[in-house]
Amino acid sequence: MRAVDLIAAKRAGSVHTVEEISWLVNEYVAGFIPDYQMAAWLMAVCFQGLDRLETFALTRAMVATGERVDLSDAGPVVADKHSTGGVGDKVTLVLAPLVAACGVPFAKMSGRGLGHTGGTVDKLESIPGFRTELSVEEFHEQVRRVGVAVVSQTPGLVPADRLLYALRDATATVVQDSLIASSIMSKKIATGATAIVLDVKVGEGAFFEDRARAERVARLMIDLGADADRRVRCLLSSMDEPLGRAVGNTLEVREAFAVLSGRGPADVREVVLRLAGMLLALSGVERDEIAGRNRAREVLDSGEAREVCARWIQAQGGDPGALNGTGLPQAPVVRPYRASRRGWVRRVGALLVARACLGLGAGRETKGARVDHSVGVVIEAIHGTEVAKGDIMAWVHARTPEAAERAAGVLGEAFELGESPPEPERTIISEL
Ligand code: URA
Repeated sequence: MRAVDLIAAKRAGSVHTVEEISWLVNEYVAGFIPDYQMAAWLMAVCFQGLDRLETFALTRAMVATGERVDLSDAGPVVADKHSTGGVGDKVTLVLAPLVAACGVPFAKMSGRGLGHTGGTVDKLESIPGFRTELSVEEFHEQVRRVGVAVVSQTPGLVPADRLLYALRDATATVVQDSLIASSIMSKKIATGATAIVLDVKVGEGAFFEDRARAERVARLMIDLGADADRRVRCLLSSMDEPLGRAVGNTLEVREAFAVLSGRGPADVREVVLRLAGMLLALSGVERDEIAGRNRAREVLDSGEAREVCARWIQAQGGDPGALNGTGLPQAPVVRPYRASRRGWVRRVGALLVARACLGLGAGRETKGARVDHSVGVVIEAIHGTEVAKGDIMAWVHARTPEAAERAAGVLGEAFELGESPPEPERTIISEL
């Protein structure tokens, strides 16, 4: 086989065989196919697509390039969750201990990635002492012993995706449905969990701006999971406005801990309970999703999930006192952002809030850049709030007064005020 022939075939719209895809992936990972040829193939895929069988073959081939974690001795079913990424998305921090407290081990590997605000690993690293870089053996042992582990992705997990994603990122070939679905599902399959929920975000601050496309990719991911004997469900949730009020690593950790203590924003709690209900039904612990959701609500409200969270933090080297705020970093400058006129908050633009946070240093623009765990924004005037001129609409947590000033300038564009109350915001779009 020759890479150039496969590129030409895909450019012309031909369908590859399973063997051809497997060969391409293996030769690339082994270094026998140069980046320029792989990039050309990826671009051909962006124009011509991959059919279902090709996508299945690509996913299997990618999984086979690395180690696979066997978690079968941790329980009959092990749960995992993935989010396609959203502004203020702190759901994993609540869901992981909640599902574990309901008796289903939870095991997740998370990438750091680039983003306006940090990823789950960055959020967890706000907790003093919390280690996210566990070996596969430590990860496995912790899932068995504590029932919950969330760690950064080990380098041996799906090396094909690591290489391909970097290439896609540099060649504008990330945005292709089969490539996205196989990238996400290859990592989920290799991590070893058998019941998986995917929180697919739709909206301005999300990977998918339109619902039809998000549903198509979600269905494909469910099928890729089934092909590997994984039970997968998807939640489509809105990302036009931030989830919850807090955006920025430590601020989100604090908000997640508030939800674990029976407080916190209703939208975060709703997404958590939906996903928990799905996982408890998928894992057979509850007969269906409604029963799962009810059980999850009881366990959240009883404080059991919070107790599991304390054990989880301790197991990964962190101080469980963080649940009460102990040791969490605090930004030196905290400034209010005030309404310039009266009105109703019709919209808090997720992307602009995220940009304000990136400017403060909460996320990273280049791989390996350091994030500032303490900075971010806490929204006071959420969707539907009536404000008078001068009311506090948000708090900006910044390193310097100048940074706070710049962020306030961006927030000025994020808040859209109207003369009448808006329609209520709908967080959950659909379930698949
Ligand atoms: N997240 C991933 O892990 N891979 C993609 O291709 C897109 C989002």
